[in-house]
Amino acid sequence: MSDSLVELKGVTKEYGAIKAVDNVNMNVSRGEFLVLLGPSGSGKTTILSMMGGFTAPTSGQLIIDGEDVTEVPPASRPTVTVFQDYALFPHMTVRENVSFGLAMRKVSKSVRYKLAEESLETVGLTGFGDRGIHQLSGGQRQRVALARAIAVEPSVLLLDEPLGALDLKIRRQMQEELVHLQKSLGATFVHVTHDQEEAMSIADNIALINQGRIEDYGPPDRVYLRPATLFAAKFMGDSNIFEGIAVSCEDNRIRVDTQMGQLAFTGEAETGATVHVSLRPEQIRLGNAEGDNMIPLGEIKVSEVIFQGTHRLCHVRAGKGLEVELLLRLPQDHAVSKGDTMNIHARQSDAVLLRD
Ligand code: ADP
Ligand code: MG
Repeated sequence: MSDSLVELKGVTKEYGAIKAVDNVNMNVSRGEFLVLLGPSGSGKTTILSMMGGFTAPTSGQLIIDGEDVTEVPPASRPTVTVFQDYALFPHMTVRENVSFGLAMRKVSKSVRYKLAEESLETVGLTGFGDRGIHQLSGGQRQRVALARAIAVEPSVLLLDEPLGALDLKIRRQMQEELVHLQKSLGATFVHVTHDQEEAMSIADNIALINQGRIEDYGPPDRVYLRPATLFAAKFMGDSNIFEGIAVSCEDNRIRVDTQMGQLAFTGEAETGATVHVSLRPEQIRLGNAEGDNMIPLGEIKVSEVIFQGTHRLCHVRAGKGLEVELLLRLPQDHAVSKGDTMNIHARQSDAVLLRD
């Protein structure tokens, strides 16, 4: 048995002149929680819809469980899709909705009602079977859609922005519940979202999609801390990005001339090339750089301090002539005020050289 359950091989989807998905190669492992993350229009729904069999690729191959399913219709695939709008049947009860997929598979009424009850219990809706869909809150409808999907025990659950319609508190709660559900079922989940915080909280791996291509792929901490590209660094959260010229590069050590002075850290680029370096706001530290694993970043002037409960967010100006704007996320106990001047520095190992 291969470890790879879903495989996309050179998959492309064109709509006229638009390449919605552009030569994507991707493997989803058995039991993995994969999140497809990206801005609106990047091709996430199209990728998911090709996995589920609702959209045919223009070229390329889709393999599930070792079998080429490129031409196989949705109902004959071991996948179930939870659509963005849940697509519940308003004229049916909760129980009828949840057992719908089983009815399609010709499971007898008594068995499918029993299985529906078990699914409802799994999503925390015991006793809701007789209710009408209109009698449910948004969060409860979401759970019914999930119960309906897991009732048929799919190998792969495909979820398209399933939490998008919920308010923030319920969304956070459902994120945790989805992870528990996925781990307890041992199923494989592919989940689409445009919210990078949601992606980081639930994913085993993130596939960051941009213009129909995979921009970065890996575990959340790696994608956040060591983004592969300029786009990935900007999309995954606040970042300070310095443009500079590589002045030397030897043994995977690079020196880059920037408006913040010369920065030396790990990375490879051609001498003379224009490069981008990123540092997250929480990676910039106050005070002088001490020790050779630190990069001095010169003097700053604080332009604004916003207290955000868990930390203080500071807008500062830096560089020669204070022409560079930076964002710093400082611990609560750092009492800094507008107008303060001080030196800053960062750890060399936190600086990331970005591909374009
Ligand atoms: P996402 O889910 O990331 O927002 P989509 O996969 O829905 O992105 O869309 C990717 C691109 O393909 C967009 O440019 C979108 O307009 C286009 N697209 C999607 N579906 C169709 C369609 N049925 N006909 C024409 N263009 C489409
Ligand atoms: Mg979409």
